[in-house]
Order: sequence, then structure tokens, then C-alpha cells
Amino acid sequence: DTPVLALRDVSRTFRISRGLMRGKATLRAVDSVSLQLRRGEVLALVGESGCGKTTLSRILLGLLPPSSGEVLIDGQPMKPADRKARARRIQPVFQDPYSSLNPRKTVAQIVAAPLQVHQVGDPAGRARVVAETLDLVGLPRRVADSYPGQMSGGQRQRVAIARALVMRPEVMICDEPTSALDVSVQSQILNLLLDLQKELGLTYLLISHNLAVVEHIANRVAVMYLGRIVEVAPTARLFAEARHPYTRALLESVLTPEPGLGVPDTHLGVAYPNPIDPPSGCAFHPRCPSVLPICSQVRPQTLRDALGRIECHLHGPAPTGAASAAPQEQ
Ligand code: SF4
Repeated sequence: DTPVLALRDVSRTFRISRGLMRGKATLRAVDSVSLQLRRGEVLALVGESGCGKTTLSRILLGLLPPSSGEVLIDGQPMKPADRKARARRIQPVFQDPYSSLNPRKTVAQIVAAPLQVHQVGDPAGRARVVAETLDLVGLPRRVADSYPGQMSGGQRQRVAIARALVMRPEVMICDEPTSALDVSVQSQILNLLLDLQKELGLTYLLISHNLAVVEHIANRVAVMYLGRIVEVAPTARLFAEARHPYTRALLESVLTPEPGLGVPDTHLGVAYPNPIDPPSGCAFHPRCPSVLPICSQVRPQTLRDALGRIECHLHGPAPTGAASAAPQEQ
């Protein structure tokens, strides 16, 4: 099957100042990422703050052009001019329903905004679609005239989901969709996302720090470190036997007093590197408990096998001639 959405060798760099007298530097926020979203799946993207997850999601949403590489929808490269078509097919759900909803607009105005921006339908048609979308997210139609300030956190996140759904997209990019909510409400929102996925055949890219959420709803997990995807695997396998030392450290960090915040410096003994000066070879080598002599010299190649995909010298690429036995691109 052609993936609904794919990144092909996508990189994104930024020129940033190193500070007074030290000139400019290039920050490679996303580094040669290839990734595919299969229709109807939940693919989770995990990694510490600053690893490039948000840049990647902005590229997918068309909010940021890649410096190189391509974004493909149904196998077709997307161009900057395709913004409207992209918005019809890919919609974001942002992290914080408190800051992402305009407090001076009613729920009806907020949910209808994407239809208006993209000039979909007439006012009566838009009102009907908004009412149907409120039904879909489990909000009573009477909240259409309410303001975000009159609603609970869970209701606001339902409004944010309705705003994304109103365009009837195929893909939703959910960036920490429950992290600003009370624990008691989080599972309601996650279950709503799962119900919508089944009912509407949606595909999700879930960006999350919360590995419990990832384990609950994702089919596959992609692990990102300093702009690169270092491991991709089905969720159950990744949680049962992660292969990449960084993935293992992330999973172990859940057991620390600050779960879900990334790998604490104390855990690996070395802080997360400065992305302006990434380590040579495998960028994880200064923190890796399994480091080999080659790791600081040579960047590992990507191995794709029956267990998933991994970029680590402990798991070398398939020898020449074995490529035909490799499973499909992931
Ligand atoms: Fe560790 Fe080397 Fe694998 Fe990088 S390539 S994760 S440093 S063993």
C-alpha cells in the first residue's frame, strides 16, 4: 500500500547566532529523515525536547519548508503551492487547549475557522458541518455559542479536535494532545481519538513525551534523537525489547522520579548534547552505555529487518545481497 504520508530524506537547517563575537552556526534540526505513515495507523514520534519532533511536524503541516528532501502524500510530492490541498488532508491538534483557542471567539467560530480560511461551503453549510463535528467529538450543540473560558480543559480539547476534524482530514498530527489535561480527563480524550480513528478511518502522527500514552494508543513508534530517527518498531515489540540503547534509556527513564521528561542527565551521566555542535559518528555516543570504538568515528547505517528499523553499530546493516530479504520500507 502507498503510505498516506511520507518523508523522503528530509532535512531542515536553521542559521542561528552563537552569541556576540562568535558568529553564526548551522543547526540541523531534522537530519535526513525518511518516515512513512501507513493509512489507518497511529505512529508515535518520541524523543527528548529539542530532538526535532516539532520541526518535523511543522514540515508535515506545510508550516515550514524542508531545506532538502520531499514530503509525499499518497506517493505524490507536495509543493509549497499545495497548501490548501494539504490543509484539507492534514490537520494539527495542538498541545494546550488553553492557549491554542482564541478566548474572544465562540466555539462555533473557532471550529468553523478552517472552513472559512479555505473558503469551504457557504455560511449555512458551514454551520451544519460545525454542528455535525460537535456531535462527533461528544460536545452538545448548545456549546456552539460558548467561549473557551466557560469550558473545562477536556471540553476545550474536544473543541480543538473538532477544529481539526471539521476539514474531514485523512491525517491528524496530534502534538502532546493530553499533556495539559488532568489525568482523569486524559483517558477520555485518548479514547475519543481512538473512537474517531475507527469511525472516520483517520491516520495519526502522535507526538508525545508520555510513553504510557504511546503504549496505549500507538501501533508503531519512531524514536528521534538529535534530528535523526534512530529506531522504528511496532509498539508492543519496542516496549518488550527495545534494541537501540537510546530507546532503552528512554524507557528506563519512565522509572525515574520525573517520568516522561526525557532521559535525565543523571541517568546517563552526560547531558543532552548541544544540537549546534552534535557529536561525531553516532550522535548518542557520549551518552551511550554500549558505546564501541567505531561509534565516535562513523555514523551507523540504517538497518531494516523483520523487527523494524534501527540505526546503531550494534545492529549492522544487512550484508550485500541480503537486501531482497528485507521487509518493506518503514
Ligand atoms: Fe551506542 Fe554506538 Fe549504537 Fe550509537 S552506534 S547507540 S554509540 S552502540
